[in-house]
Amino acid sequence: GTPDISESPLHPRRKSRRIMVGPVPVGGGAPISVQSMTNTPTVDVNATLRQIGELAQAGCDIVRVAVPSQDDADALPAIVAKSPLPVIADIHFQSKYVFQAIDAGCAAVRVNPGNIRKFDEVGPSICKAATDAGISLRIGVNAGSLDKELYAKYGGPTPEALVASALKEARMFEDVGFHDFKISVKHHDPVTMVQTYRLLASKGDWPLHLGVTEAGPAWQGTIKSCLAFGALLAEGIGDTIRVSLSAPPVEEVKVGCKILEYLGLRQRHFDIISCPSCGRAQVDVIELAKQVTDGLKDIKAPIRVAVMGCIVNGPGEAREADLGVASGNGKGQIFIKGKVIETVPEDRIVPTLLEHAHEIADRLERENAAN
Ligand code: SF4
Repeated sequence: GTPDISESPLHPRRKSRRIMVGPVPVGGGAPISVQSMTNTPTVDVNATLRQIGELAQAGCDIVRVAVPSQDDADALPAIVAKSPLPVIADIHFQSKYVFQAIDAGCAAVRVNPGNIRKFDEVGPSICKAATDAGISLRIGVNAGSLDKELYAKYGGPTPEALVASALKEARMFEDVGFHDFKISVKHHDPVTMVQTYRLLASKGDWPLHLGVTEAGPAWQGTIKSCLAFGALLAEGIGDTIRVSLSAPPVEEVKVGCKILEYLGLRQRHFDIISCPSCGRAQVDVIELAKQVTDGLKDIKAPIRVAVMGCIVNGPGEAREADLGVASGNGKGQIFIKGKVIETVPEDRIVPTLLEHAHEIADRLERENAAN
């Protein structure tokens, strides 16, 4: 998953300043990156590295690991040394782990100033250590850990309260001359989340890390993330995204990549166009679409495959597809770029489509490699 598109077809992107998370640029017109977080115990270096490898395969650009204990902090150098992705250490409560993460060579550290003890005192030395190491930070403000004073002043974790908290922390960094940080202001409710990021985006040029926190299981969380990220990205707001799901992290990456692909913000991979089927359908479109999607899910080339339930809206409707099938009469018309190339019996539809799809994908990859 190389993020490769920096302009949005929907809206000019907000001008943000650029920071680096290891080799990955965030903000300043850089392609929008996808992040996730491992859910293995960080101390289990092998399991964590295995998961990071899986995330990288799925298109993840940046990975975050939690550092809740001394043992986890001690595991960071080994993880950083072998990780194919830049590693962000996620630290709550204990500022000493921040320094350890910086020493371990982490690409960035996420701190939640709202719950780091005596942040006012330790903040400047964190900035100094980050500057000396040439790494960036993320300020992560969450509705759940909003500063008590702000909570009382605004009557809850409102967009204004979350932004006030982020601004206060950003100012603290900037007062000591530190600018290499991005901000997240997460909320579990998509509407509040969108309002919060919009407000924050109007206050300065920090790169923004988008997230709907505690978004729920895959189905609900995917919808919430699509809505909230879609609304913001369609306005040009957002420099890096993390989908949070109560599901394996690789699912977060898949959803994040697809959001960017469908918004024209990342090179498309395999895509399926399939009809919803109706009373005219002469084949089980739902099952067919599922089998084709499963069979092609690992294809990297940007091909579109259409699965149509009947010939009424067959090749014509799906002319933009590279390849497709329109079914009828126990047979499938296989078409390439709108032209029927062969007709096969129903039980040959899936294998024939997969064969052609792989051929097209191989050719595209060869052409790509030649360029
Ligand atoms: Fe119905 Fe045919 Fe359209 Fe599918 S392609 S929705 S089966 S009319």
